[in-house]
Amino acid sequence: MLVTDSIQQVRTARWADPSLQWGFVPTMGYLHAGHLALVQRAQQENDRVAVSIYINPTQFAPGEDLTLYPRNLEQDVRLLQEIGCDLVFTPGDHTMYPAGYQTYVQVEGVTQHLEGASRPTHFRGVATIVAKLFNILQPQRAYFGQKDYQQTVVLRRLVQDLNFPLTLVVCPTVREADGLALSSRNSYLSPSDRAAAPIVYRALLRAREALAAGERQAQGLRRLMQAVIAAEPRAHLDYISVADPETLVELEQVAQAAVLSLAVYFGRTRLIDNLIWPDTV
Ligand code: AMP
Repeated sequence: MLVTDSIQQVRTARWADPSLQWGFVPTMGYLHAGHLALVQRAQQENDRVAVSIYINPTQFAPGEDLTLYPRNLEQDVRLLQEIGCDLVFTPGDHTMYPAGYQTYVQVEGVTQHLEGASRPTHFRGVATIVAKLFNILQPQRAYFGQKDYQQTVVLRRLVQDLNFPLTLVVCPTVREADGLALSSRNSYLSPSDRAAAPIVYRALLRAREALAAGERQAQGLRRLMQAVIAAEPRAHLDYISVADPETLVELEQVAQAAVLSLAVYFGRTRLIDNLIWPDTV
């Protein structure tokens, strides 16, 4: 497994045999079973797999957790080696944003809602770094988690609008036994907050039950989720949403499909989760 922070070395490895198909998994490191599931899916569908580990500063707003974000490169490399990853790209800020850097990618429309409303500069940073990584690696397929559902919608637009010749693959959210979606940020949770955090998934399940029972009023579904969260004093709601899965516009009525999503604070830790209805991913 090649571990490198050099764009040139990535390109040399990528093009050593142009007949090979590459799958690519961008991450911010501190890898867990959710990340590894993406790598394994990429291994099934490609000859070679590359993972990037880079905590991208431009997707964090001032005051967010950039400096606190958990890291453990040694363990990440060991985990990737164990599952047979081929290439790990670990660039520094001086490589991705050298002095004089001035170019940013802004996806419009779908970035205005949900995470984009709570974190207005976030997706500009995500789209910029993913576009750069796609250009550096030039994979045939790139793998993302449904956990960050809006990110997959934004990146689908990016791939389509900027004509990247690759397929974007979305993989199911990997959860703890109690339903909490795996996230590097779960490591911030105090024991009491960790014990309370599965309420986020329970709120989503409550709304899914109501949908299965025939509820179609989006506001009714939002209220149900809100009531579940309100019953947990450690949880503080940022947003709750029942939206169109493609446009992310809030629905009044659920007709064909919906994405149920929410962002909830436990102390200073902000967790997000979502479900698609009907379950198609
Ligand atoms: P991150 O390191 O948090 O930027 O995540 C890197 C990739 O892993 C993104 O495509 C995430 O959506 C995906 N991911 C993160 N957590 C999970 C999870 N619990 N299940 C599946 N994919 C995940």
